[in-house]
Amino acid sequence: MRLSTSWSACVPVVPFNSPGRASAAQEVALAGALDRVLKSGWYVHGPEHEAFEREFADYLGVQNVIGVASGTDALELALKSVTAVAKNAVLTAANAGAYATTAAHRAGFTPYYADVEESTLCLSARTVEEALARSGGGVGTVVVTHLYGRMAPAREIRDVCRRHHVALVEDCAQAVGALGDGGLAGSIGDAAAFSFYPTKNLAALGDGGAVATDRDDVARRVRQLRQYGWSRKYTVELTGGANSRLDEIQAAVLRVRLPLLERQNLRRREIVARFVKAAAGGPLNVLRADGPGHVAHLCVGLTDQRDAVRALLNEGGIATDVHYPVPDHMQPAFLVPGDVPSLPVTEWAASRVLSLPCFPEMTEEDIEHVERALRALT
Ligand SMILES: *Cc1c(COP(=O)(O)O)cnc(C)c1O
Repeated sequence: MRLSTSWSACVPVVPFNSPGRASAAQEVALAGALDRVLKSGWYVHGPEHEAFEREFADYLGVQNVIGVASGTDALELALKSVTAVAKNAVLTAANAGAYATTAAHRAGFTPYYADVEESTLCLSARTVEEALARSGGGVGTVVVTHLYGRMAPAREIRDVCRRHHVALVEDCAQAVGALGDGGLAGSIGDAAAFSFYPTKNLAALGDGGAVATDRDDVARRVRQLRQYGWSRKYTVELTGGANSRLDEIQAAVLRVRLPLLERQNLRRREIVARFVKAAAGGPLNVLRADGPGHVAHLCVGLTDQRDAVRALLNEGGIATDVHYPVPDHMQPAFLVPGDVPSLPVTEWAASRVLSLPCFPEMTEEDIEHVERALRALT
């Protein structure tokens, strides 16, 4: 079998992301960390994990960090730990990849949706307040997603939640390091979920996640639930427990990478700023990621001509993606006949968003190639 020239001409020149480039750049430090774990004989819940929990808590400015096996597990265990017993619904946005919806289902709750603001594509105090008023009192927890790296107005949303006696969980999987007026993403809600999936801003070499919380009672419950619901070894005190551990190798990798995070987030913002400028006046309105409140996890634009723009960029050797094409309430698995929430901004955005490559290891050549393609669109 041979590859045709037309096929090879279609292979993207600028990848959407490239976890391998980060690993190559950090090879010596990573190899040292992996070797340390290899020789220690501790492979789960050992010294690396304990040190990472402490270091990440200090970085976030929270009392407790609990390592778990993924961001989705972090959401599920957080929901199980903060939601009042009498409540059965979780309120969230429907434009954030269905992770909170999946976690809500797994935790035994019914998802319920609020619309997002056109200017931020995130929940706001206004949209949460409206949805809570419509919900009939079943909502026990709101999940706010800091989407694409942008810090949502978590403090104002928390004030609304408190008035309604509802808990708040922050989904920080895309926003590690984002700084809002009340503190870093993850330090505002009753609990926060982080993912260390290999393409996130703080990335492991596999799956990983964490729950952050200032509440010691919530921390205790998450610690129990991540390990079978044990109160101590072999004594199951809570139902709904799981086996969800962040292993030593991933913790050691994260300890190498946490000190690099701020500089890399800055680099991501610079890349978005260049794409905003290059795309100005054209058919793709690239959303800004200015200042410490946005860590540019994704570089997202809005366009009425997504298929055409995507095809042109692809022809130019630039990989793109859509985050996310199907809102949660329209996902085949989650459709509830007769229950069609009205989420006009969510649906408007889902048909227009388009993501460009954006990762700190992009070369100057990569960036210029994307800039040229964006300018050519105008
Ligand atoms: C990636 C992501 C998650 C899920 O994290 P996993 O580690 O893949 O389970 C949750 N929420 C958001 C917003 C994400 O981007």
